[in-house]
Amino acid sequence: MTVGNNIKAFRAQLPAHVTLVAVSKTKPLPEILEAYNAGQLDFGENRVQELMEKQGALPQDIRWHLIGHLQTNKVKFIVPFVNLIHSVDSEKLLAEINKQAGKANRIIPVLLQIFIAQEETKFGFSFDEAEAILKNNPSGKYSHVRIEGLMGMATNTEDRSQVRQEFRSLKSFIAHVQEKNPDFRTLSMGMTSDWKIAIEEGSNLVRIGSALFGDR
Ligand SMILES: *Cc1c(COP(=O)(O)O)cnc(C)c1O
Repeated sequence: MTVGNNIKAFRAQLPAHVTLVAVSKTKPLPEILEAYNAGQLDFGENRVQELMEKQGALPQDIRWHLIGHLQTNKVKFIVPFVNLIHSVDSEKLLAEINKQAGKANRIIPVLLQIFIAQEETKFGFSFDEAEAILKNNPSGKYSHVRIEGLMGMATNTEDRSQVRQEFRSLKSFIAHVQEKNPDFRTLSMGMTSDWKIAIEEGSNLVRIGSALFGDR
């Protein structure tokens, strides 16, 4: 199977309301172009340097998603072109994105990354921390970011019921937030190993790498 065929086959399995972000980290330009030529426009990268190189070299209508931990000193490099930052995991980072977006005269869509896994290595806010940020934001404090949803990663485990439970907790939190913020619509959850469960539990954006491009 080629990457283009993988993309088409994968999209055919996805419900219409679910956005596919093709995670192209570590993958070379020709493979990304093959996916693009199969109609894929949303791509995700987790490192700023790699993202910048690829953005410069590939078609300009690609919508780039930053899905990995972002250091504040690198925000300025991606702000001119990034489509959605999934991995906002501190208020300091949110403030820096707001500042740089102001300079670039942009409003950057972002997601708050929520810590739902039982793992030490995953970044993100607790539900309480996220709620506190969302309460403060309508005052216009961050006028150059648009917080439009949440991102979460489940524990990397064979225990499907645990994964399901973690996704479900995020879905119920977003439903709670949506009561007050109706434009809060993006729920980014699900990767190659767990995207089906994620969609069953309410995801509307999946981030898929290895199922499309092969193992890294
Ligand atoms: C690498 C990565 C993915 C894709 O993982 P696959 O298992 O290859 O589908 C999704 N989300 C994040 C945050 C990643 O870093």
